Amino acid sequence: MTDESKKHVAILGSTGSIGTQALEVMSEQADRFVVEVLTAHSNSELLIEQALAYRPNAVVIGDEGKFEAVRDALWDAGIKVYAGAEALEQVVEMEEIDVVLTALVGYAGLKPTLAAIHAGKHIALANKETLVVAGELVTKLAREKGVNIYPVDSEHSAIFQCLVGEFHNPIEKIVLTASGGPFRGKSTTELKAVTKAQALKHPNWEMGAKITIDSASLMNKGLEVIEAKWLFGLRPDQIEVIVHPQSIVHSLVQFEDGSMKAQMGLPDMKLPIQYALAYPTRLQNDFPRFNFLDYPQLTFEQADTRTFRNLQLAFDAMEKGGNMPCILNAANEVAVAAFLKEEIGFLAMSDLVEHCMNTVPFIAKPKLEELIESDEQTRLVAEEYLG
Ligand code: NAD
Ligand code: MG
Repeated sequence: MTDESKKHVAILGSTGSIGTQALEVMSEQADRFVVEVLTAHSNSELLIEQALAYRPNAVVIGDEGKFEAVRDALWDAGIKVYAGAEALEQVVEMEEIDVVLTALVGYAGLKPTLAAIHAGKHIALANKETLVVAGELVTKLAREKGVNIYPVDSEHSAIFQCLVGEFHNPIEKIVLTASGGPFRGKSTTELKAVTKAQALKHPNWEMGAKITIDSASLMNKGLEVIEAKWLFGLRPDQIEVIVHPQSIVHSLVQFEDGSMKAQMGLPDMKLPIQYALAYPTRLQNDFPRFNFLDYPQLTFEQADTRTFRNLQLAFDAMEKGGNMPCILNAANEVAVAAFLKEEIGFLAMSDLVEHCMNTVPFIAKPKLEELIESDEQTRLVAEEYLG
């Protein structure tokens, strides 16, 4: 393939779990992809190592204190180096970029994603928080700009794959599968005593710390429910969750004739990452293959939203709409950070989220500035509640 026929990719958050796996995918398919931009928040060592290996046009280090170290290390290689949060919004506009993979974690993804869409870049979206905070604005802008949003989240990739060839057939409902996390089946009393170390041990997936805690608390599934609403244009009553501990069926779509399609495979994020980057092509690879005999039982059970209150809170926020999902997300980011610092217990995370949802003023039709304000306000209310 010539350089023009290759896809030029910017990876926001290249040092994380999704970012590093995306780089593996891209180097395995080096005749298809060019790494154009890499960014990291504070891991300058890994960013430098990646830049020297993949030779992007530019890198961004979020932590401005590390700018000089990165610039000095990449000077000879002729790689442009920028620093700070605003540089993320600028770098995604670079002419050469075709697709921006948003693999950074949390609310920090919102502004660069909007900037990339404004600049007409397609989005491979891992950063679900962006759609939770501002799904309506982001998807509207993408439609206006003719930009495609390719889901990287495995459940949403599954649904997207089930919808290929079905674009004129309305969805009756979707079913998002959830592993249930490390605490599946535990009672509220048992959850009181769980530790950070236990919460960080996910049975099926190796991921960044924030999403791993969200998976243990089922907030991850809650965020994914809201993400699905915006990606696939669904009503809240069309979205269901089912616990499937083996994480083999990645999610399902039911059509209006009652037929259900599922997408299956081993739990491996490289597949949805590759699919999002290479869509509509399925590229040959040597990822491990699924074998039914290794999984003689695929099981399904009801999600326990009474014990795992975060999932119910997310459904409530979706129903309420407006800035409520933004409030839910900001409160959860503060809660997870506090839990990871061992300042609050596992169940206190839901108390904090609920408190913020009841306290921060509701806005039915928020503009972008109002969402940014709601995020800030929620963080203040949350910090105050934590004392
Ligand atoms: P991670 O913590 O491993 O990596 C996060 C990346 O973002 C790092 O490169 C970090 O430098 C960067 N980053 C962190 N804070 C930042 C900030 N404030 N500004 C700019 N950059 C920042 O996280 P991850 O597990 O790779 O998850 C990334 C995103 O993908 C999350 O939104 C997560 O929900 C989603 N996701 C992850 C997985 C997975 O398997 N890891 C699966 C589905 C979806
Ligand atoms: Mg997921």
